[in-house]
Amino acid sequence: MVTTFHSTRSTTDSLTSKQAIRQGLAADGGLFVSDQLGETKVRIDDLAGMAYQDIAARVLGALLPDFTDGELADCIGAAYGDQWADPAITPLRQVGDDWVLELFHGPTSAFKDVALQILPRFMARTTPEGAGDERVMILTATSGDTGKAALAGFADAPGTAITVFYPKGKVSQVQELQMTTQTGANVHVAAVDGNFDDAQSAVKAIFGDERLAGELAERAHTRLSSANSINVGRLVPQVVYYFAAYARLMEQGAVQAGDEVEFVVPTGNFGDVLAGYYAKELGLPVKHLVVASDRNNVLFDFLTTGTYNRQRPFYQTISPSMDILVSSNLERMLYYMSEGDARLIAMLMSDLKQWGAFEVPETLLAKIRRLFGCGWADEEQVREAIHDCWEKNGYVIDPHTACAWFVAQLMPREEGVPRVVLSTASPYKFPRTVCESLGLDASGTDFDCMDTLAKATGTEPPAALRGLETAAVRFDDEVAVDAMTDYVRRACQD
Ligand SMILES: *Cc1c(COP(=O)(O)O)cnc(C)c1O
Repeated sequence: MVTTFHSTRSTTDSLTSKQAIRQGLAADGGLFVSDQLGETKVRIDDLAGMAYQDIAARVLGALLPDFTDGELADCIGAAYGDQWADPAITPLRQVGDDWVLELFHGPTSAFKDVALQILPRFMARTTPEGAGDERVMILTATSGDTGKAALAGFADAPGTAITVFYPKGKVSQVQELQMTTQTGANVHVAAVDGNFDDAQSAVKAIFGDERLAGELAERAHTRLSSANSINVGRLVPQVVYYFAAYARLMEQGAVQAGDEVEFVVPTGNFGDVLAGYYAKELGLPVKHLVVASDRNNVLFDFLTTGTYNRQRPFYQTISPSMDILVSSNLERMLYYMSEGDARLIAMLMSDLKQWGAFEVPETLLAKIRRLFGCGWADEEQVREAIHDCWEKNGYVIDPHTACAWFVAQLMPREEGVPRVVLSTASPYKFPRTVCESLGLDASGTDFDCMDTLAKATGTEPPAALRGLETAAVRFDDEVAVDAMTDYVRRACQD
């Protein structure tokens, strides 16, 4: 069987998964989807005892059939090796009456590592025949976590290079150091004089600059691509950990093959929770997927009313990776939930662009709501959740996980249906907020806060984070917004 991909907004394209990964976004602005999703089911009865890597081979094999088993095995082996601090890759812990799936044991201590450790290995295997030594330059504007995880994934990855822009003075001390100390011969990092939206808009303009694309292809044999979560190659690796969670629940005797499970997911761009939907389509018994938001609760309003309205204030919160008003991957969920109605999706997205809002038909909303729950937490509630979870369970969570934890604790519990909260970052990535929430001394540097947190909770900071205090800074470039194109041009000549 051949699996082909086309845009969520039209069905004319017919790309292999390799082509879809290399291209990133469809030409009409839609996201790549495959109508064959779910035709091949993933076997679950024998998951107990299976290693993460073996589960990954099974799940990715079903989702990316044009990669050979050997290619997938190479990608998986390189992506999920000893750069992970826990051999289980995504260990599952019982916390109170719930389960927490820890997704943050990768090299940058955030869940984006799960996808960004393997995307570069996929990318290296998508070079079309005849393209010779064409190189892919990954271009990213970041408000924090994505930039570092992308840098760590693409550093010295064959056939690729990466340029990351972050807004000067708008990311935490730890986040800035994580990026400016990045090693690797093919990496470029610059601070932009402006806010995240300025940097993001400039990057979008660079992607849309056809003259530049022609010039880079000709002079530098380079093609620009994106590592953000709309890429199929970033989405599918996340499907794996839903199956891994189920495997661990089976081992604990919390479920038997076929029993339903509920997942509560701290959500921003809707990639993480969408992967849960893919898992369900592949045959995982998922009862509900609960979308947890922070104060930027545009998804909560959408799932409650059927109207998605991005025209609202933007709040910069203590869970920065969830501060998003346009959740790009929602488009894929709407596509599948509407039975592949590309015309409807094209219309909704055009409304969003033109009016800043769209409304889905009532029947579609009802169908979505049968599977997707929702909730949100304001900043005070996030701090409370961090505090409560520690007081009651002796378990420290970060502000993103805390949104989901808060939402989970308010939900009625269903007898016999285990609930898994996805934990997306190490508390040591946000040591100041966590210290404040626990009532600890939060003066001094982020590193002082890490030490305070370690001492008070008996936990240990990830070595890569604690070591940043003395790591050598490699990048101190600062660029104006209108100089970003030139910066990319020079980076491509390197
Ligand atoms: C990116 C991120 C999220 C949001 O995930 P989406 O896939 O964008 O919904 C949540 N928490 C953390 C720590 C993140 O880095």
